[in-house]
Amino acid sequence: MSVAERPGCRRCGAVLPVAGRGPVPAYCSGACRTAAYRERRRREALPVEMTRLRRWVRREGKRPVRSDNAAPASSTNPFTWTTHEAARRSRHGDGLGYVLDGGDGIVCIDLDHALIDGRPVPWAADILARCPATFTEVSPSGTGLHIWGRGRVLRGRRIRREDGAHIEVYGRGRYIALGERYEDSPTTLADLSELVASLTA
Ligand SMILES: [Zn+2]
Repeated sequence: MSVAERPGCRRCGAVLPVAGRGPVPAYCSGACRTAAYRERRRREALPVEMTRLRRWVRREGKRPVRSDNAAPASSTNPFTWTTHEAARRSRHGDGLGYVLDGGDGIVCIDLDHALIDGRPVPWAADILARCPATFTEVSPSGTGLHIWGRGRVLRGRRIRREDGAHIEVYGRGRYIALGERYEDSPTTLADLSELVASLTA
């Protein structure tokens, strides 16, 4: 295999050292391996207000599944949920999901088709600008944003506006498939009551 054909370091792209007959290493150096690990930890970081609650499932595509046996999970059946730790360790499905259950005061504002090439479209940028600093993640599709925070939303709302905005606000009886942390959003939850009120007015 020529140098040009060999895969580079997964982090910096540098040409990898020849490793004799063993498998090709993923990183060029210990420094890149450590940095990649830190970056993954950063992307996977979640608010403690969410990880301390037993509201976790796995996601398989868009569907929620149980972390213990991959059977369908239900956003209204707590017996199909588990702890964050158990869900994180599970290898079923493709990732994590969180169930909003009203009483815990956590809400999620779902912005559909909010990103193009990772950048927010104008209506989404406007909502982000009005939003207090709070945990935000990119949906598994890579095109949606989930803004998480504190508030009370007992009845879900869907809002479609003429500017193309497609917004859903949920607080209970709903499962959200988690993606990756959005840019440098904090891993804390802000009070979203005002934003929710302005969106659903
Ligand atoms: Zn490297």
